[in-house]
Amino acid sequence: MYLYNSATHKKEEFKTHTPGRVEMYTCGPTVYHFAHIGNLRSYIMEDVLEKFLRYTGYDVNRVMNITDVGHLTSDADEGEDKMVKGAKRENKTVMDIAKFYTDAFFEDCRKLNIKRPDVVEPATNCIDDYIKIVSTLIEKEYAYLAGGNVYFDSSKLSRYYVFNDHDEEDLAVGVREGVEEDTNKRNKNDFVLWFTKSKFEDQALKWDSPWGVGYPGWHIECTGISLKHNGEYLDLHCGGVDNAFPHHTNEIAQSESYLGHEWCPHWLHVAHLNTAGGKMSKSKGEFLTVSLLEEKGYDPIVYRYFCLQSHYRKALVFSYENLDNAAAAFNKLVNRIAGLKPEGEVDQAVFAEYREKFVKQMSNDLNTSMGVTAIFDVLKAKTTDATKLAILDDYDKVLSLDLVKKAEARRAEQAKAKTAETECGYTVTGEGDPAIDALVLARYEAKKAKNFAEADRIRDELKAAGIEIVDTKGGASWKRV
Ligand SMILES: [Zn+2]
Repeated sequence: MYLYNSATHKKEEFKTHTPGRVEMYTCGPTVYHFAHIGNLRSYIMEDVLEKFLRYTGYDVNRVMNITDVGHLTSDADEGEDKMVKGAKRENKTVMDIAKFYTDAFFEDCRKLNIKRPDVVEPATNCIDDYIKIVSTLIEKEYAYLAGGNVYFDSSKLSRYYVFNDHDEEDLAVGVREGVEEDTNKRNKNDFVLWFTKSKFEDQALKWDSPWGVGYPGWHIECTGISLKHNGEYLDLHCGGVDNAFPHHTNEIAQSESYLGHEWCPHWLHVAHLNTAGGKMSKSKGEFLTVSLLEEKGYDPIVYRYFCLQSHYRKALVFSYENLDNAAAAFNKLVNRIAGLKPEGEVDQAVFAEYREKFVKQMSNDLNTSMGVTAIFDVLKAKTTDATKLAILDDYDKVLSLDLVKKAEARRAEQAKAKTAETECGYTVTGEGDPAIDALVLARYEAKKAKNFAEADRIRDELKAAGIEIVDTKGGASWKRV
């Protein structure tokens, strides 16, 4: 498999430390609020990647943290503590907030068919691990104490900016406008490993450490959790592109200084989800969540489909119009699959040929838009319906769009609708929506009663809803156009 590696800035053949096994790490959510759909885009693409690696025969150990302490509003350790902010906002304890939003995150994942990683570790579970790493970094003189906090000394590294070819000046943006700079830092890129000088008097979670009572910095969590569950050699580290700097840069700095050898050779970053106004965020514009999409009548899997239509390294623009287009395309796809008859033999040679094609397309830097195109190629193939359904089911191990399942449900609905209407002597064939079937039937009854005005009114109503009716022998059929 070829994947773009943000650490080397090129597409490379993906190799693992232990042949056949992938140690994979994903930065998890900070559980102080709902995830917005931009965050979830990363988790969808990482899910596809994990499933594809398994599909091609790898044994994968995927680890993810849950950040429930230490993440400040600026990723460069400035501003407010996000968890404390969430707790204040809702007048709850930090632990209640963490529990509530962790559950909400996994509920969103379930709706989007995102598999739960093999290991999910809340940051507060691994305090001893961070203390051990920080102690070693101090011993090795990569870290220093200042003003009560422990800082990583970025000047000890020969190379700090690992992901970017930009100027140092352009990247020194860790400090956001209006946020006070930490004068304890010796160098502007130094970062906190352990806070004891807490500026948050109401910080609820604190632990004893050799440097005083306090709590870990955000970056050290991922190093501690990955070393604990993935071991010393990580093969693949993923996250949203906004994690690349400073978070992942700092993870590499501390991990390699601690280990004394290269930690993770391959880094994958998923691009932003943008709106017309720019990067999506919780504080700007409409707060787009999976629940909000559901309230507006979208199936969450349509959002997954929308994401898969684009490459993970390209910024994706979200608008309701774009999502509507994806929903219409998805609906048509389900209808086409519902039209396949689950009968006959599976042609194993054709099955193998299409599997190989799919692997080839997806192996090219996780090209999910080609993976989606492959579905249409299957539908056009000259083979039995049973073979097509078997191939689609197989692709779904990676794409997780529930296409065959949804098509089966639609087929059942259509059969039911048809039978129900046949009983009164008039057959309505449609897309399995009983409300529309009823209107089509009402139009027929109005015509029969010579109430043509009413029949026309119903026809116009259906037309306005995008429904086209065609009279057939002994009934009518309708479709969405
Ligand atoms: Zn992380």
